[in-house]
Amino acid sequence: MDLDAVRATLEARRDDTRARVAVLAKRPERGASQGFGKRIGDGTVEAISRFNDIGVGTALETGLARTERALAKLDEGTYGCCDNCGQPIAEKRLRAMPDVVLCIDCAKRGA
Ligand SMILES: [Zn+2]
Repeated sequence: MDLDAVRATLEARRDDTRARVAVLAKRPERGASQGFGKRIGDGTVEAISRFNDIGVGTALETGLARTERALAKLDEGTYGCCDNCGQPIAEKRLRAMPDVVLCIDCAKRGA
């Protein structure tokens, strides 16, 4: 595999994800002093959209951690080997998901 290309892909993804996390983190807390549920119309919609933002933020941070782990493995020279069992990860799997750090067997077992 072309590890330089993989690194470039992962670094671009990491920078993009970091930027998105930063935007979410900077968003001002709206209605923090009102509490949820006082206004049934807009307030409810706002509360739901805030919860969705939190979910998106968590997913982004999980993705960022994975991308950073894959980059660390490139530095360590263990990229392409499973983090759990140490066996090589199928190249097809790596091409589909460049930030994958587990082989398919370990991923299936939920390792
Ligand atoms: Zn494994």
